Amino acid sequence: MQRTAAVIGSGFGGLALAIRLQTAGIQTTLIEARDKPGGRAYVYETQGFKFDAGPTVVTDPTCLEELFQLSGRNIADYVELMPVTPFYRLMWEDGRVFDYSNDDELLYRQIAEKNPKDVEGYRRFMEYSQGVFDEGYVKLGHEAFLDFRSMLEAAPSLMKYQAWRSVYSMVASFVEDEQLRQALSFHTLLVGGNPFKTSSIYALIHALEKKWGVWFPRGGTHALVRGLLKLFQDLGGEVRMNQKVQSIEAAAGHVMGVTLADGTELKFDAVASNGDVVTTYKELLGHHPRGRKMAKSMMRRSFSPSLFVIYFGLKKFRADIPHHTILFGPRYKELLADIYSGGGLADDFSLYLHHPTATDPSMAPEGMSGFYVLSPVPHLGKLPVDWSVVGPKYAESILNYLEKRLIPGLRDDLVTMSTLTPDGFRTELGAHLGSAFSLEPVLWQSAYFRTHNRDDELKNLYFVGAGTHPGAGIPGVVGSAKATAKLMLEDLGAPRPVWPSNGGPQLEAAQ
Ligand SMILES: Cc1cc2nc3c(=O)[nH]c(=O)nc-3n(C[C@H](O)[C@H](O)[C@H](O)COP(=O)(O)OP(=O)(O)OC[C@H]3O[C@@H](n4cnc5c(N)ncnc54)[C@H](O)[C@@H]3O)c2cc1C
Repeated sequence: MQRTAAVIGSGFGGLALAIRLQTAGIQTTLIEARDKPGGRAYVYETQGFKFDAGPTVVTDPTCLEELFQLSGRNIADYVELMPVTPFYRLMWEDGRVFDYSNDDELLYRQIAEKNPKDVEGYRRFMEYSQGVFDEGYVKLGHEAFLDFRSMLEAAPSLMKYQAWRSVYSMVASFVEDEQLRQALSFHTLLVGGNPFKTSSIYALIHALEKKWGVWFPRGGTHALVRGLLKLFQDLGGEVRMNQKVQSIEAAAGHVMGVTLADGTELKFDAVASNGDVVTTYKELLGHHPRGRKMAKSMMRRSFSPSLFVIYFGLKKFRADIPHHTILFGPRYKELLADIYSGGGLADDFSLYLHHPTATDPSMAPEGMSGFYVLSPVPHLGKLPVDWSVVGPKYAESILNYLEKRLIPGLRDDLVTMSTLTPDGFRTELGAHLGSAFSLEPVLWQSAYFRTHNRDDELKNLYFVGAGTHPGAGIPGVVGSAKATAKLMLEDLGAPRPVWPSNGGPQLEAAQ
């Protein structure tokens, strides 16, 4: 008899897992509470603007390509990925501009302008990053860590690459210039980590970007989400949108199925949750001792900060602003301490500005520009403020700052604007404390110490997504789907698929 599985949630992790299960012959049902798939990669459409809600920097396209290749399909028939150059423009208040890309000559020139000695330091840092990438991403990025032995097996690599040190401290051991240190360490923020606390293993992001480039899907990140959903449906998978799972039914060490908010009961041989890990245990399994025990222990853990995002459209096309800009504020370490320790809402900011129309004019009406600007803020556990009161004032000060620093005339050209606050992360996505990236990616919450891809007691309950190994970010959650799918297929007795360790034929790296 054909085995069945449910995947709760259609974030990148849920979609990737559902595709892998369905490809392997498990009849899979994807259940999503919202009206559109994607989770954090939701899309808002208004007045001809398309605003991707979350992820916009697409790295490691091979992990996405692989999902299509499993069934002999080609990603290009579903979505077009376009290279983005520079990867990011980094700007400081003293007027320094640094274009980060994988063009070595350009990088060396920009580094040498400030401190010639750092060119050699940067080269050595990239060698370090490559080593960590080979060990941490290629070998371990999609293997489940279910027992302590698996952690011990990884220990020699962790020791070799000094995983106990922070990304910033490791970068600082290679280069002297403080701005270059910021340029080489801020990346952990894209997966919820403080560069001063996150394990140096995350320095692998540089090698990953160098190898495969940075990409943007034509039509926006949500076009990629829709491509993945279509692939799942083409494979025969069932999709239930607008259907919230109310509870996961469990007894005698097993789960039997799920009950939807409208009371519908559905039986499955296995259930995987792509929802928030705390919310899954606390609410969907709150009726079961295992759910209550796990929720209690997980709530003691440390969670990534939240984000305040402003989506806005301008009536003029801003050809002068590249696709991705990072605006560093006057403080770095101190601002991060405010955000991660919840020292209040700072008056200064470091901002990430996304301008998709720079790559794809179809993201806005003709002759106009769509943007989002993102400011990391403490999560609701650290800063329990009423965002319906604080939000409008905070948005004002961010837009004022942007107008002064980068986009003169912003106010006059503004045609649409909306915000996503920590409250939105909590209510729209069920995120514990409104955290944008789930568990903080620190060493003591990584691999075996992160939520296990299979529950230790409920043997056919699985997890996929940012709260599981390896963690947040598109490559992370797609890797978690690979780890979880391996376990599920083995447990469900499906023939063990032969999967490449990292992608098959690859897209040409961005120049
Ligand atoms: C603003 C922002 C910018 C980011 N930028 C980048 C970037 O540039 N590059 C990058 O790689 N990463 C980025 N990230 C991180 C990345 O987006 C996330 O780590 C990743 O998308 C999370 O995917 P996930 O699989 O964990 O699922 P999620 O996106 O968290 O989706 C979970 C889904 O489960 C559904 N769900 C939950 N509970 C239920 C229930 N009971 N019943 C039914 N459905 C349920 C939710 O509605 C949701 O759709 C960004 C994140 C944010 C927030």
